[in-house]
Amino acid sequence: MCGIAGIYSHKPVATELYDSIIHLQHRGQDAAGIMTYDKRMHKEKGMGLAREIFTPENMKLLTGNIGISHNRYPTHGGFSHGEIQPFWTSVPYGIAMAHNGNLTNYKELAQQITQKETRYLNTTSDTEVLLHFFADRLHRDITPDKSQEFFNLLCEAVQSILLNVKGAYSVTAIIIGKGLVIFRDPQGIRPLVKGERPNGNGGSDYIFASENSMFYSLGYEPKGMVEPGELIYIAENGEVFSKRLITKDFNPCIFEYVYFARPDVNLNDVSVYRARLRMGQNLAKAWKRKYPEKIPDIVIPAPSTANTAALSFAHEIGVRYSEGLYKNPFIGRTFIMPGQNERKKSVRYKLVPQETEIRGKKVLIMDDSIVRGNTSREIVRMLKDFGAKDVYFATACPPVKNPCFYGVDMPTRDELIAGNMGEEEIKRFLEVDTLLYQEIDDLIEAVTRRGNHNIDRPCMACLDGNYIANDIDEAKITEMETMRNNDRKNGT
Ligand code: SF4
Repeated sequence: MCGIAGIYSHKPVATELYDSIIHLQHRGQDAAGIMTYDKRMHKEKGMGLAREIFTPENMKLLTGNIGISHNRYPTHGGFSHGEIQPFWTSVPYGIAMAHNGNLTNYKELAQQITQKETRYLNTTSDTEVLLHFFADRLHRDITPDKSQEFFNLLCEAVQSILLNVKGAYSVTAIIIGKGLVIFRDPQGIRPLVKGERPNGNGGSDYIFASENSMFYSLGYEPKGMVEPGELIYIAENGEVFSKRLITKDFNPCIFEYVYFARPDVNLNDVSVYRARLRMGQNLAKAWKRKYPEKIPDIVIPAPSTANTAALSFAHEIGVRYSEGLYKNPFIGRTFIMPGQNERKKSVRYKLVPQETEIRGKKVLIMDDSIVRGNTSREIVRMLKDFGAKDVYFATACPPVKNPCFYGVDMPTRDELIAGNMGEEEIKRFLEVDTLLYQEIDDLIEAVTRRGNHNIDRPCMACLDGNYIANDIDEAKITEMETMRNNDRKNGT
């Protein structure tokens, strides 16, 4: 999972792109990059958090009123400075691109690009493949001058992407002398929202981003989402063109609501906060039905992404919500950290139990999801060390049984606890007295109950094995898992 943004403005965009990276930092902490252009491209990027990469000195070099940014979180590709987005190519025009998602036919596309289209790939990143695929389809003998003609050319190029590139992709791109280009895969798997702000001269500035988390602080009014299969082009002169090139079912990622997105944002016209409240409410109702004799004394969220669901869970069953595990806010999210050992070490470093909240009590831990199970077990052990009488465990997400190939760095099947164990076994592994998973239907209900949305059915492939882009079979899973394992061996 990554975070992207693209801005067209009447004033320099570098600081607003920096702010966008800060507001999307939870979506990727490995690396970040910004590209802007005036007469030529300007790029700054580096490893780590935005505040470690960008300085007043290097920000000054990012001139121009149009630009894109990227927060990196490893999905596919190695992990070196060269893999940090945005990527760019000088032919045709000069194009830079940032992408959130994962291409499931990366290998076939890479072969096509290097062998048939005789382009050179400098990295193993799927974004570079997407960039060259796009560039190749934009390359013509004659350059259209008028914005409308250029938009027609863009439509052809992006249509070809939508028909041939499989998987999940939300994309921001800049083209020198042309403007800002935005598009989203046909099923809208990864999020992409848009905002607008008056520029004081009768026109508008525009922002596109993975989440609307920065809109308020930058003064942009939310204008909903980029439609699945839609292309938007903001020409240098401010003309706006858009077209939905392909219409398919709308299947946005449900895991954004469970874990990934910031709770204060609206994705796909659904409030993440409200969806999480409903997750807690639905789960509490199921708990009361199933375990009426096991009402806890307190509900503690762990990790903090479960705060909202824990709040409504506690409210629904009529017990106290407790911050019985204090989180050190200066440590990165463990789900994002590469490497199992680091993850194990970090739990106790990151969470400090409050004995007065725990000793002698029946404690219910609310987690957003159980992926590998090791972090959850560590938390249970910590509570027992601090004198909990009973430890119950409830999780806002159904069992995660399958890897994600659409841009969330899920482990391979071997590492997913629910891919290998039944619920009774998981309960024993976690060393808890009682365990309750959210039902799939209750999760869908929580996400889709309210909001003026057009979601047909969210993607839930990691839960139900239905890879909604119809692009994954057993051979593909093996290929993708091998590629992922190789990436990890190489340091991702
Ligand atoms: Fe989201 Fe899971 Fe679908 Fe991946 S497989 S896009 S994590 S719902």
